[in-house]
Amino acid sequence: NLTQRLSGVIKNLRGQARLTESNIQDALREVRMALLEADVALPVVKDFIAQVKEAALGQEVIGNLNPGQAFIGVVHRELTKLMGEHNDALNLATTPPAVILMAGLQGAGKTTTSGKLAKLLREQQKKKVLLVSCDVYRPAAIEQLRTLAQQLEIDFFASDISQKPQDIALAAHDYAKKHYHDVLIVDTAGRLAIDAAMMEEIKQLNAALKPIETLFVVDAMTGQDAVNTAKAFGEALPLTGVILTKLDGDARGGAALSVRQITGKPIKFIGVSEKPNGLEAFHPERMASRVLGMGDVLSLLEEAQRGVDMAEAQKLAKKVQSGKGFDLNDFKMQIVQMRKMGGMSALMDKLPAQLSQAAAGAQVDDKQINRIEGIINSMTPLERSKPELIKASRKRRIAMGAGVQVMHVNQLLNQFEQSQKMMKMFSKGGMGKLMRGMAG
Ligand code: GDP
Ligand code: MG
Repeated sequence: NLTQRLSGVIKNLRGQARLTESNIQDALREVRMALLEADVALPVVKDFIAQVKEAALGQEVIGNLNPGQAFIGVVHRELTKLMGEHNDALNLATTPPAVILMAGLQGAGKTTTSGKLAKLLREQQKKKVLLVSCDVYRPAAIEQLRTLAQQLEIDFFASDISQKPQDIALAAHDYAKKHYHDVLIVDTAGRLAIDAAMMEEIKQLNAALKPIETLFVVDAMTGQDAVNTAKAFGEALPLTGVILTKLDGDARGGAALSVRQITGKPIKFIGVSEKPNGLEAFHPERMASRVLGMGDVLSLLEEAQRGVDMAEAQKLAKKVQSGKGFDLNDFKMQIVQMRKMGGMSALMDKLPAQLSQAAAGAQVDDKQINRIEGIINSMTPLERSKPELIKASRKRRIAMGAGVQVMHVNQLLNQFEQSQKMMKMFSKGGMGKLMRGMAG
């Protein structure tokens, strides 16, 4: 990671009176290499390095601070700048109700975050909030928001699913006006991946509602996909901000750097738990500390930038070979990889006969792949790493979030178990080699 990489060159900076062009050269190269290795776009890296260099040069090394620490301080400040310097608060200054539109992919955390945000606005700003869902495709998703609203004692506008999303939203807007709500939060339908119909729908919603805040909700754990999705949404919608969810998972900041860079929009909030109070205002400075202090910023950046690649496949292969720690996150990664490689049927052709049969035993076909991904998206990071925790009530919640039956969740858990068995079966054989081969 960055800190580790820097620690070597920091030693070399010791005993110098100040940071100079020549003595920070190595340190700058390390930062540059680290970012490039992580696949951060060259112009972004160049800008960042130039800024760090300019800020570091001539910096007096005072007091007990050694030049290395001074250098880290500069990197910290520049990272903070990269993420926007200050916290950007929500703008609700408009004729009430102030409309907040939630956009993002399925499983990103829109519905959960809508509830969290309503609670936060009520508690911190004494706002009277109305929640509405425009997810007409998945009645269960509307039900999920209704349940949440009930739990949190937030007003909920019941959607008429025979109507178009924008008509539902406008009806909710009328209702909010009549009932003196300060804020209307509009939860929307997401898909598993960017598609034209979804973009069209959210664009129309945005045009009809003219929200004061259009927030893009994105799962910090999705890495490279988070960046791509952010870009697509940013191009289609006049976003006013980003909410990065699931930062309590193992993503610890990489996405924060990339998303801000790509959309140019401020991250306004971060999701730090699945609980209703797990939403916090985003502070770039705190995030920079986290990025510098954390153990695996670069591997995360790498993951964020690369998506399916060698490293992922090898990591997976290692787990597979050891037969240990293969969890639902890995299962999902496998599934995503399968899809990127042309689906199960294409994959079957590449597999040796023996393995093909085992895979058939796990009964995963192309149609199920999307559903499986949706279900795993609806799980919390903890549930993904410890599937054994998923008992009846969690199953119900997950099913509701993914818009499927509990039966489907059970099916998935069975498939996962099968898959685990399959892993064990082939762990001694060439599975690791096979996975690496598939990545290449
Ligand atoms: P939507 O499809 O975008 O509406 O996503 P949901 O709101 O249904 O969220 C999908 C899953 O992610 C649910 O299981 C949530 O509990 C979980 N989730 C959302 N935000 C967070 C977060 O910040 N931390 C954790 N741990 N889980 C989250
Ligand atoms: Mg939802």
